[in-house]
Amino acid sequence: MVRRITGSALLAGLVYALLPVAARAQSHALPQGDVQAIYRRLLQKIELMKVFDHHAHPGFGDDSDVDAQGPAPPPQHPPLRARATNPEGVVAVKALFGYPYSDLSEEHMRWLGEKSAAAQKGGGIGYWDGILDQCGIEASVANRVAMANYLDPKRFRWVFFVDSFLFPFDNKLVTGENPDEGVYIPLQEKVLHRYMQQAEITQLPDTFDGYLAFISRILEENQKKGGIAEKFEVAYFRSLYFADPPREAAAAVYGKYRSGGVPTPEEYTTLQDYVFRYLVTEGGRLHLPVHLHTAVGEGDYFSLQKGNVMNLENIVKDPRYLDTTFVLIHGGYPYFRQVIWLASMRNVYIDTSEIEVLLYPSEFKNVLKLWLQTYPEKITFGTDAYPYSAALGSEEGYWLGVHAARDALAAALAEMVAADEITEAKALEFAHGYLHDNAVRLYPAASR
Ligand SMILES: [Zn+2]
Repeated sequence: MVRRITGSALLAGLVYALLPVAARAQSHALPQGDVQAIYRRLLQKIELMKVFDHHAHPGFGDDSDVDAQGPAPPPQHPPLRARATNPEGVVAVKALFGYPYSDLSEEHMRWLGEKSAAAQKGGGIGYWDGILDQCGIEASVANRVAMANYLDPKRFRWVFFVDSFLFPFDNKLVTGENPDEGVYIPLQEKVLHRYMQQAEITQLPDTFDGYLAFISRILEENQKKGGIAEKFEVAYFRSLYFADPPREAAAAVYGKYRSGGVPTPEEYTTLQDYVFRYLVTEGGRLHLPVHLHTAVGEGDYFSLQKGNVMNLENIVKDPRYLDTTFVLIHGGYPYFRQVIWLASMRNVYIDTSEIEVLLYPSEFKNVLKLWLQTYPEKITFGTDAYPYSAALGSEEGYWLGVHAARDALAAALAEMVAADEITEAKALEFAHGYLHDNAVRLYPAASR
């Protein structure tokens, strides 16, 4: 078909011809400019940018509220970078505390333990505010069972756990599946018990309607207490594939096991699938974004197949849940090539926490680049800072996460600029979005 060139098309062509070369250059596979020089220029500016940490577990090492999985995860054969032999740990504690040694031997780590114990004993909110200041973090999510009085509510925003609502019955079969579940599931039972105490009930409500009302009550109360999102780490306990059972089927299971008995795996799944979708719907009603753990997890028994983020496709692409904001925590790693396409949905966001410390920056840069090339406005930063040990506490997690992410971000953007994909001005806009703006936009400003 021959198209007649109209006056306005001609005008548009003229304007296009007058644009600076960089804005209309064809992109290239190989760098056209000096990548190192662009990287250095970008990094200098990125280091001054405000950071919002979209996923972290701040707290002292012996604080059992730091995660629903408790302070001590099951044993694991850690990947190279997470091992105690990684010299980056020494760099972090030297930068944060002026650590006087050059290794993390047990004897030397006692120095760190004493420092943290003194801060804990001293009380007040100054210590953790100071850690954020040192890392250039304006505010951080505190994904915890409950908030701690040593965390400043102006800087730490609470994200609470909701998995325990999926495990209200006798959990004998789940607990026995492998040694990891033996650690996790009893802790989930404790969280549910706490929620029941909060609602002043001593046993499960008589009816399924009553159970759902109890769940809604806890969500509303936790939101009033400052909670900004609900968090699932359910990938640790079962498949991320949730079917769509009718309410009557779930209610029948509830009625059968409410006061005792061990449900079959199929029966339990029916109840959980329904309750999960109820929590997702409530997240939309209450404007509580739903955070989901979606990457390879702690412990040697974490199932990559069941935990595959693509199992959530039927949920995040269900038009009934368009009012619910989903944050795919840890970006579905290692399925990072697939996960970015879920972010085509306007209500789906991806967080990079855990990846930037699991991988070295040289590889994290590639993950980030692919995502920035696809849906740059949907990617958010997080550290997953967590008190693993005296040497790798939440403090060091913040420091390592921020430094690795800035480095990889500057490198990914420098490659995009050098390949004529974006301008340097656009690169800085993407950087602001990733480190701060994209996530902050999802929540109301801290009210206190
Ligand atoms: Zn986490």
